[in-house]
Amino acid sequence: MPPSQAALRRIVPAIVLAAIAASPSRAAPPAVPPVAPPPIAPPPIAPPPIAPPPIAPPAAPDCADDGAPYDPAALRDRVAHLASAELDGRASGSPGDAAGRTYLAGRFRCLGLIPAGVDGSYAQPFLADGQPTANLIGILPGDDAAAGGDIILVGAHHDHLGNGRLGANDNASGVAALLAIAQALHQRGKPRRTIAFVAFGGEELGLLGSRYFAGHPPAALPLDRIVYDINLDMVGSYASAGAVYAMGTFRGLPATPIVKALAAEHPALHVGIGGRGVGSDHDPFCRAGIPYVFFWTPDRRCYHERCDTLERLDTAHLGAIAAFAGELVVRLSDTPGDLAASRRRSGCTGR
Ligand SMILES: [Zn+2]
Repeated sequence: MPPSQAALRRIVPAIVLAAIAASPSRAAPPAVPPVAPPPIAPPPIAPPPIAPPPIAPPAAPDCADDGAPYDPAALRDRVAHLASAELDGRASGSPGDAAGRTYLAGRFRCLGLIPAGVDGSYAQPFLADGQPTANLIGILPGDDAAAGGDIILVGAHHDHLGNGRLGANDNASGVAALLAIAQALHQRGKPRRTIAFVAFGGEELGLLGSRYFAGHPPAALPLDRIVYDINLDMVGSYASAGAVYAMGTFRGLPATPIVKALAAEHPALHVGIGGRGVGSDHDPFCRAGIPYVFFWTPDRRCYHERCDTLERLDTAHLGAIAAFAGELVVRLSDTPGDLAASRRRSGCTGR
């Protein structure tokens, strides 16, 4: 059931612009009025339903070598599927939510990710406001024993609001970018550090999936080994403000110089560096002391509206942002720096 208008108003500040005390690397996008963060007194998360989810069928065709990962047309195809009228906005617990998760599990499988959900599947089930849904979790193992214990989490929420709101930008775009990064890393060969790909559910109802994950991490992904969280939420509306933000990039954190170097290498992208975005899925991880980079593009007209559709997707910049985020994951995975020590020292705030 979609949230009431009143409930929506409480949730909406989700991607909060207040956060953007950013210092754009180039032309500063126009200032955004501060918005108070949402009250975070979320309801307790119910335990997973007792009935186990169906185990994923084995043997899927390999799709990892199926084209260039960051090809904008391929990204657009993924968004088109997730934001189709048939899936009706993927509201938690709806048939469209289930269909979207089935599609994503199929992509995870054919990209060769190792399931890290329950019972050998990708799914980590939980209840979102009483509705059964799930996070989807797949792993690309690292191959360096010295750094292989470190985990870099790449996350994007798969749910949206439903009721005619299809959520192409929010957040089919982030999920498409996540799939592209998984494909690119698979093509590249084993990363040095382990990469965990997580499509979170229940985000629109109050970060329920990421909070559930942080409270119940899978055995293979203990929180104390997660050294970075790369969060992709709304990365398909670059044209709205002519900028993408990379928040969480505070002084002294290992990803910050990498993001700055990448911004210099991608002069066509205006990248806002710094600022702390609240109200998205990096939040529970930051609270656990895990540093993050939160990629986000403002959407001034269609945020949580019915006009957030495929037709408005900024496909070309979605490809560029996905490639940028993917290269950040590669460089973080390969860095000789001690990410675990940095996390212990600086947490997510870069003290
Ligand atoms: Zn979102």
